[in-house]
Amino acid sequence: MQTQDVTFVGAGPGAAAHLTLGAYGALLRADVVIHDRLVGAEVLALIPAHVRRINVGKEGFGPSVPQPTINHILVREALSGAKVVRLKGGDPGIFGRLEEELAALEAEGLGFDILPGLTAATVAAAAIGQSLTQRGRNTALRIATGHDIAGFADQDWAALARPGAVTAIYMGKKSARFIQGRLLMHGAQPGIAVTVVSNISRPDQQVIGATLATLPAAVTQANGPAVLLLGLAPRAALQSLPKLHEAQA
Ligand code: SAH
Repeated sequence: MQTQDVTFVGAGPGAAAHLTLGAYGALLRADVVIHDRLVGAEVLALIPAHVRRINVGKEGFGPSVPQPTINHILVREALSGAKVVRLKGGDPGIFGRLEEELAALEAEGLGFDILPGLTAATVAAAAIGQSLTQRGRNTALRIATGHDIAGFADQDWAALARPGAVTAIYMGKKSARFIQGRLLMHGAQPGIAVTVVSNISRPDQQVIGATLATLPAAVTQANGPAVLLLGLAPRAALQSLPKLHEAQA
């Protein structure tokens, strides 16, 4: 494989078991790893001790590093000749600002390659024993965000509200009430299933079975970053598994 200036690597949602072999190999070969807050501790532990790490995620309760600063660090490290890995939670191409970082590299004539990762939605669906698509139920799967640059994100609400529709909503905790309101306004039944899965593939993973009617209350119980699986309930056979229903303190 040709050596690139920067390798974008998807870390998956948390557990080392959800890292691809390609991603693991890239971590072993790196000189420097620039990573986000959402990268799981198990994955960070696989980075060899001699590899330099730059955390561009939130530090404690401090502000997140602004995107232009991240772009600058990427370019600076790549120009220095280091083998740079840009490690992102989940898949770099899903709500990962990948495009902005690629553009910054291209502007400097720097090369890159992209190693995809498991995105939060697929791992969340597996955790509740459900398929994201199903013949006769949904002919499309939507990956949506609750939040966009301008605030709460707008969607094709009528499509999301249709019976059988399945949508994985990222960054949807703060906008849960807005999402609920828009969906009800567009004809969604209050009883449709929504499952909130937080801290996916981490030791404190939590599954909260809810409906559209109870969604705002359900998200307040989530103990960390969460995906809202609209249109999917935890599979009945799994409901009793204690590991899927940890105390919702
Ligand atoms: N690139 C990531 C998404 C980054 S956007 C991916 O493909 O998964 C950040 C949002 O992703 C969070 O607000 C949450 O909605 C979701 N997310 C990412 N990792 C998660 C995890 N381990 N548990 C729950 N939600 C997660």
